[in-house]
Amino acid sequence: MTPAHFAAEDSAPQRLAGATRAEIARALVDLGVPERERNMRVSQLWHWIYHRGAREFSAMRNIARPLLDRLAERHTLARPDVVTEQVSADGTRKWLIRMPPAHIGDKGAEIECVYIPESDRGTLCVSSQVGCTLNCSFCHTGTMPLVRNLTAAEIVAQVLVARDRLGDFPGGVAPSDGLVPSGEGVRAVSNIVFMGMGEPLYNLTAVRDAIAVLTDGDGLSLSRRRITVSTSGVVPEMQRLGAECGTMLAVSLHATNNSLRDRLVPLNRRYPIEPLLQACRDYPGASNARRITFEYVMLKGINDTPAEARALVRLLKGIPAKINLIPFNPWPGSPYQCSDWETIERFSEIVFNAGYASPVRTPRGRDILAACGQLKSESEKLRARARLMLEESLVVGQD
Ligand code: SAH
Ligand code: SF4
Repeated sequence: MTPAHFAAEDSAPQRLAGATRAEIARALVDLGVPERERNMRVSQLWHWIYHRGAREFSAMRNIARPLLDRLAERHTLARPDVVTEQVSADGTRKWLIRMPPAHIGDKGAEIECVYIPESDRGTLCVSSQVGCTLNCSFCHTGTMPLVRNLTAAEIVAQVLVARDRLGDFPGGVAPSDGLVPSGEGVRAVSNIVFMGMGEPLYNLTAVRDAIAVLTDGDGLSLSRRRITVSTSGVVPEMQRLGAECGTMLAVSLHATNNSLRDRLVPLNRRYPIEPLLQACRDYPGASNARRITFEYVMLKGINDTPAEARALVRLLKGIPAKINLIPFNPWPGSPYQCSDWETIERFSEIVFNAGYASPVRTPRGRDILAACGQLKSESEKLRARARLMLEESLVVGQD
């Protein structure tokens, strides 16, 4: 892969914040760094970019000045722009991030990234695509045309932006407004969930490359067990996700029979419930210690009866599972309503009595999401998704 996707024009500096090792090596080849020193230079750059969080080449004290100057002439460690930052009363943060133009004439895609702090961990919800080609009938993102896949660098950059802002790199200072977990061995960003915009398994190569950067022990060093990838059920890619990424899996189930799931998640017509659950049984590394999360959005009068709760429990029998009940987040023109609280409670009790830990949590960050309408239209489209992430990331992506 050439680093060309880091810049819209040849004259623009190429972005190295988010780059894979191969992309950094390519940049060094282009600068004429001799082969015998290349691996060492890649390691040095890697350490500075991902372990230290360097934003300027000049900070890299163990690299000779002439090379730093040449790097700075053609490359940048700049992050994508943060257009807005909102902090909820409960410490939840939401950033609207504008990616640099992917090509000439591109205005730069905007995505939202949400951070949910708890006392001993912090979960970041990232996007894998701008928009989504699938059309789940309850999902606002599904109503947007796909703009494009994000690159691996753009996925990683969401984590860099969060760590910058949270003071999560060595020497960084945590913001004083809102909770940021701290203490011996506690990282502000400890967990990642791919539950933002897009279907990660339709952009699996970039997701895989991003996960390799995120989990590299010499850099960001996140645990694969603390990264969860959510899919609407792209059955043929699930094995590859497990084998190549080794992350935790979340599956958007939402229905217990095919005729309803066909309506809610149209991809079900291609990959119905039975093969989907078989792919879960076959998911590499799934065990009682590494359970698969099943997401179930609570839609009033659609999928929320006690009989369906019992059917859900029956369906998942024998699969090491967690169940995540998500209150539906309505959006303008959405054809559904959220189930009543009593209905959700009744449903969750049946699930709980079947041995699954308390699956519904208090929503977080509602106050800042309520203010979303003030943002640009591009981000308004993400409102449903962003709300959802808040609910979800409380119960998944955790050790
Ligand atoms: N495309 C992937 C990952 C992103 S969606 C997937 O579908 O799994 C993350 C989760 O949000 C999914 O479980 C999805 O079904 C759910 N979701 C989408 N819109 C929602 C809404 N309006 N209310 C509640 N959950 C929603
Ligand atoms: Fe796409 Fe997931 Fe939304 Fe379905 S729920 S439209 S797969 S983002």
